[in-house]
Amino acid sequence: MTRIAFIGLGNMGGGMAANQARVGHAVAAFDLAPAALARAQAAGCRAVGAVAEAVADAEVVITMLPAGPHVRSVYQDEILPNADPRALLIDCSTIDVDSARAVAAQAAAKGFRFADAPVSGGVMAADAGTLAFMVGSAGTDFPAAEAALSPMARVVIHAGEPGAGQAAKICNNMLLGVSMLGVCEAFALAEKLGLAADRFFEIASKSSGQCWSLTTYCPVPGVGPETPADRGYGGGFATAMMLKDLKLAQEAAARSGAATPMGAQAEALYALFAGLGHAGKDFSAVIELLRGRLDGLSAA
Ligand code: NAD
Repeated sequence: MTRIAFIGLGNMGGGMAANQARVGHAVAAFDLAPAALARAQAAGCRAVGAVAEAVADAEVVITMLPAGPHVRSVYQDEILPNADPRALLIDCSTIDVDSARAVAAQAAAKGFRFADAPVSGGVMAADAGTLAFMVGSAGTDFPAAEAALSPMARVVIHAGEPGAGQAAKICNNMLLGVSMLGVCEAFALAEKLGLAADRFFEIASKSSGQCWSLTTYCPVPGVGPETPADRGYGGGFATAMMLKDLKLAQEAAARSGAATPMGAQAEALYALFAGLGHAGKDFSAVIELLRGRLDGLSAA
C-alpha cells in the first residue's frame, strides 16, 4: 500500500485515481470541481480540501491537469512547498516541453525526484487502466515511476531525461494528426474517382498506405472496425484536444528550429475545423471538411 496524492480528477484523472484505489493504495484526491471530487470519493479515494492537504504525507504525487500554466502554478505554489522531499512527483498532463523541464528543475532544486509521464489512450483507457505512459525522468528514477504508474497502465516506456515524455507525446500526436488527414484525403479522392470506400479500405489496409488512422480508427462510417465515425463522430479524441497537441508541437518546432510543414498544415486544418464549430467532434470528423460536406455534422 502506497500513500498517493492525486491532483486533477477530470475526464482522465478520475478513472486513473480510481484505479490506484482499486489496487489498494491510499489515495488522497483533490480537484477544484466538487463533482469530480465526489466521483473520486465514490471510487474509493479520500477527498481532501486542498492540494497541500493531499500531498502532506504522500509517498507519490500524481497530477493530471489541463495545461502547462496549471501544472506550473500547482507545483510552484502548492506541491513543492508542502510535499515531503522524499516523495516521487509525477505529472501525467500533456503540456509543453519547456514547462515540463522548468517544473523538473524546480523539483530537483528542492531535492525531489520528478517524472513527466503523459499518456496515450483516452478516457476509456484511463477508466480501464490501459493507458500507455511515456516517461521523462532520470534513469535511476524510472523503476519507481514505472511501479507507481502500473495500476493505470498497459505499458510504461522510458523516453529519456525530464521533458522527453512530453517530447514523445507531441511528436506522436503530430504524426497522428498528419496521418489522419492523409487517410481522410485518400478516402475523399477515392470517392470522387468512384472507388467504393470498403474496397479502398481493404486494399490500402493490405498495401503500403496501411497505418493506425486507417485500419484501427477509420474516419468513414461502416468501414473497418467500429470507430467514432460509426457514432456520428461523438466521443473519441476531440478535435479541440488534437488541436491543443498540434499547437504544442508547432511551438516546440519554432523554438527548436525543426521543419514541420505537415504538422503546420495539420494545425491549420484542425484550427479551421474547430473554428467552424466542430471542436467537440472526434478528430476523424475532419474528413467532412475535406469532402466539403460540413452540413451533415451538427456543430459541437
Ligand atoms: P479535464 O478538464 O476533464 O480535467 C482536468 C481537471 O483538472 C478538472 O477536473 C479541473 O477541475 C482540474 N483542475 C484544474 N486546475 C486545478 C487546480 N489548480 N487544482 C486542482 N484541480 C485542478 O481534462 P482531461 O480530459 O482529464 O485531461 C487532462 C490532461 O490529460 C490534459 O493535459 C489533456 O491534454 C491530457 N489528455 C487527455 C486525453 C483525453 O482523451 N481526455 C487523452 C490524453 C491526454
